[in-house]
Amino acid sequence: MSQNDNQFLSVSDVQKRIISDIKAIDGTEKIDLRQALNRILAEDVTATFDTPPCDNSGMDGYAFSSQELESEQSSLTLKVAGQSFAGHPYVGKIASGEAIRIMTGAQVPEGVDTVVMQEHTEKPEEDIVKITTIPKAFANVRKAGDDLTTGQTFLAHGKKLSPTDLAFLATQGIAEVRVTRKLRVAFFSTGDELKSIGETLGEGDIYDSNRYSLYGLLKNLDIELIDMGVIADDRSAIEEAFNTAASVADAVITSGGVSVGEADFVKETLEKVGQINFWKIAMKPGKPLAFGSIGDSLFFGLPGNPVSVIATFYQFVQPALKRMKGQDIVLPLMIKAKTTELLKKRPGRTDFQRGILEQSDNGELTVRNAGAQASHVLTSMSRANCFMVIPAQSGNIEAGEWVDVQPFEGLLG
Ligand code: AMP
Ligand code: MG
Repeated sequence: MSQNDNQFLSVSDVQKRIISDIKAIDGTEKIDLRQALNRILAEDVTATFDTPPCDNSGMDGYAFSSQELESEQSSLTLKVAGQSFAGHPYVGKIASGEAIRIMTGAQVPEGVDTVVMQEHTEKPEEDIVKITTIPKAFANVRKAGDDLTTGQTFLAHGKKLSPTDLAFLATQGIAEVRVTRKLRVAFFSTGDELKSIGETLGEGDIYDSNRYSLYGLLKNLDIELIDMGVIADDRSAIEEAFNTAASVADAVITSGGVSVGEADFVKETLEKVGQINFWKIAMKPGKPLAFGSIGDSLFFGLPGNPVSVIATFYQFVQPALKRMKGQDIVLPLMIKAKTTELLKKRPGRTDFQRGILEQSDNGELTVRNAGAQASHVLTSMSRANCFMVIPAQSGNIEAGEWVDVQPFEGLLG
């Protein structure tokens, strides 16, 4: 997608373009169930037997046949013929007029289909149970296969495996699953003013902080990281770094050096080593973005300002990386909350303002400004737990109005 100098692209156009250009990487691995937490499933998984495997009790109580039930019954007295405990099923037949003592999860024997909870019974004698509150026929029995039936596909490729999914797979006795291989991402910062932690700051220098936000953002996506440090604004150093990064990684991410007025050789070098688009996006913060490829690697050139890095990562890089991992859901969750104060906004670009999302006592979601919104200010970014997304054409948002919100927790998923 080319762009003439004065044209700005919308956030959603860029998202669509990036996502439609990206395919899942090749390569899967079969790994142990525990290792598969948060990985992306690369196969559809099918049940090989019913779960639960047998009818079992949903309560501690007494199991009996629904044939014992009559209309207008006020109580029912049965003989206790034996017991079925979890892992220790009852063996034998149950005659008319009989019940068995049963525990939650214990197998419901043949001829029995109803369980009364213990709290609704009395024990007048050792082997007699009196049911004082009559249950409905078939109550409290969990039928075999009511969760999964044999042959049912219960997890599909593209699913990010949650703790529940590990349990779900375990119910089928599955010890290993096939997941997409881990993505490898190389990243570095560009700028002559940048020093790494441990170095002494000279006049006008700052510490490179973007490599730390990127480290965290990538780590949360379960990605293998290749941290290449700070690369000086130097033609040959940059070219070498781009080539090295692309040779080892599925994607290369840089920050800085993509804005107008940057030393031209960054752009020049990128055009030489890869196919890169330089986009101006109608968003704040985060206007410039370079996106394309170097060799077989995808390339993202993020702006330099610390908050712009995080904002553009969430909107463009994270969806792209999720897509590369083969994940099914990639775009950030957006919900609505009521702003409790005036949000200042000039029409023109989509604002990603840092906000604090809260729940009021009546359950309503409210949001307020997290502080100064300039793109170098990490104070408000650190305090924030969401972006308030204010559409491009919108002006100020008055207190009490609804605003779109992207919670960070959801974004990190
Ligand atoms: P640039 O896009 O290179 O012009 O950078 C824009 C602003 O972000 C400048 O103020 C840079 O000093 C700052 N900046 C660039 N890279 C980093 C970094 N890695 N860590 C902290 N600030 C940075
Ligand atoms: Mg720079």
